[in-house]
Amino acid sequence: MQGVFAEYERTKIVERTRRGKLYKARMGLLVWQGPPPYGYRIVRGPKGAPTTISIDEREAPWVRKMFEWVVEESLSARQVAKRLNRLGVAPRRAACWNQGSVQVMLRNPAYTGTAYYNRHESAEPGRRRNPAAYPRNWKSSRRMRPKEEWIPVPVPALVSSERQERALEEIRTHRWRFARNTLYPYLLRTLVVCGECGRRMCAMTPRSWWPHHTRGGREWYPYYECPTHKQSPEDTGHLTKCSSRRVRADRLDEVVWRSLGEFLQRPEVLKVEIAAYAEDRRSSARGEASEEKRLVERQRQLERQRARLVDAYQAGLLEVSELRQRGERLEIEQGEIRRREEELQALKASGARVEEIYQEVEVFCARLREGMDRL
Ligand SMILES: [Zn+2]
Repeated sequence: MQGVFAEYERTKIVERTRRGKLYKARMGLLVWQGPPPYGYRIVRGPKGAPTTISIDEREAPWVRKMFEWVVEESLSARQVAKRLNRLGVAPRRAACWNQGSVQVMLRNPAYTGTAYYNRHESAEPGRRRNPAAYPRNWKSSRRMRPKEEWIPVPVPALVSSERQERALEEIRTHRWRFARNTLYPYLLRTLVVCGECGRRMCAMTPRSWWPHHTRGGREWYPYYECPTHKQSPEDTGHLTKCSSRRVRADRLDEVVWRSLGEFLQRPEVLKVEIAAYAEDRRSSARGEASEEKRLVERQRQLERQRARLVDAYQAGLLEVSELRQRGERLEIEQGEIRRREEELQALKASGARVEEIYQEVEVFCARLREGMDRL
């Protein structure tokens, strides 16, 4: 019984602290839990004076450098991480920088002047590292909260927002612009997908094409291949190798190139295709809109259920174990709804793009034809 009481007290305290923080933030006072973004530090004022977030003179120059390398030298996130490691710049907690940590940093809105508190909440991880173990903390993973719940905290900017946008654009398009392999100009690099696992197939060049390598008796060709064939399971996240076959790049490229050319010679065919797709999108958009409404309504219902659960618990009608169990079930459904809502958003965006393309299809075709002729 004492345990239940303690648990109840704890939830109450957590909730009160959260509300207190929100209140403080709205009053313009600093709320920040945990370390500030890389490049900043928290400065506690003398008694009575407010706490502020200010620039960390040791870390901030590296943040500016990272943006500079990406925008001016066109380094990829991976290359930035490599350079930082080589220069001996230590990240806050991890042993070294990697592609992911650099990408997360470049995306952080703090660097253009607005940090966000309350951006994440703890959640159960999708996949446990050790499913057999009983974890001390079930919610060991982090999940983005809905944007309305973020609390903006003004901080000194380290780069302009134009620069951040440029950097993100560079990172996004890097793999298309800097193909490493120049022995064969793969037309469909990064565009061919494995039919079995859905991963992007790698553009492979036969070893015998490499410089300083004599060609064996057999003829070799450039090809596209599922990454699970050659890469380790840790890298692909796929335990078994796909049975999909490699595809000869020269043949596939040829087929795609030819049909692309035919398409572009006759914009009206393309227009019909796009119109059909746009119509298809429009008709399913109606269904999606009503589905979205249903989801919002269901989300509200679940919120009410959650509130009732807590009431029942506080009135002593519910054991804490049951409260937790039922709360978790609610959370799972809410998570699923959120995911579906995101999917619907993405569909809506792609529908809008299709409409745009349809409007400009002739200009688009003419421009592509020009490009093809120049080759
Ligand atoms: Zn595959």
